[in-house]
Amino acid sequence: MGRVQTGQAVPPLLGRAIGTAILLSLTESRFRRDLLDWSRDHSRNFPWRGGKTDPFLILVAEILLRKTRAESVAREWDSIIKLCGSPEEALRHSEAEWESALRPLGLAKTRTRVIREISRELLVRHMGSVPSSPELLARVPGIGPYIANATIAFAYDVKLPVLDVNVHRVLVRVFGMWPAQELHKAPHLWAAAREILPEKGHRQLTLALLDFGASVCMATPKCVACFAREYCHFYVTTNGTLSEKLWNPAGPNGPTDRAGFREVPKHGQGEA
Ligand code: SF4
Repeated sequence: MGRVQTGQAVPPLLGRAIGTAILLSLTESRFRRDLLDWSRDHSRNFPWRGGKTDPFLILVAEILLRKTRAESVAREWDSIIKLCGSPEEALRHSEAEWESALRPLGLAKTRTRVIREISRELLVRHMGSVPSSPELLARVPGIGPYIANATIAFAYDVKLPVLDVNVHRVLVRVFGMWPAQELHKAPHLWAAAREILPEKGHRQLTLALLDFGASVCMATPKCVACFAREYCHFYVTTNGTLSEKLWNPAGPNGPTDRAGFREVPKHGQGEA
């Protein structure tokens, strides 16, 4: 039987859970440190990432980044910001102007409609500013938990989990967490994305996670060039060779549902 510091005997399952929790927390702090080291030389610079970027521009960038590579949005950024210094200005420009600016990114009609509807809602309900409360922002039609959290985290430097497909992939692989089919239905991953953030420097860590998922731990991961090979659950259990479709984070004979996987307590924000 395992023993805790009090000297009291603990059941084997509880002992194993405590051991797993300690290992995970060691992995978490090591990964966080290594990721920040990595980001010093590898972070990507995009115009909407500047510290003084207006919250509305950050919101527009997050809307466009949903289904488009950041590099593509960056290429069109100069034409886009001419249309949207504020929600009021966004509405002053015609649909045709918006569609023409967004055409190179695709989904021009849909995105024009969404940006204009959001602008209208911000004007009517929030006096033309972007609320700094994720609950309020997520209530604006067209803005889900991801866009609300990312906008507020970056615009107002608030510690909030930002879970997109890239961050999801990194968390699942590094920590062996159960993957989600739909991110908005994955409270355990939202909680992990919050848990990994430090008290200070959370903005930098979130950006580093996004960059790492977009340039190293990609859909086809570049494990040979990765600093996390020693402790990444995916790499350690597969040597980076197994197709992810065949990978079971709990091991080849492990459960095939979420039972037995790392669960972290629910936190309020970002859960749907
Ligand atoms: S070792 Fe491979 S799977 Fe693991 S974090 Fe690095 S790139 Fe991703």
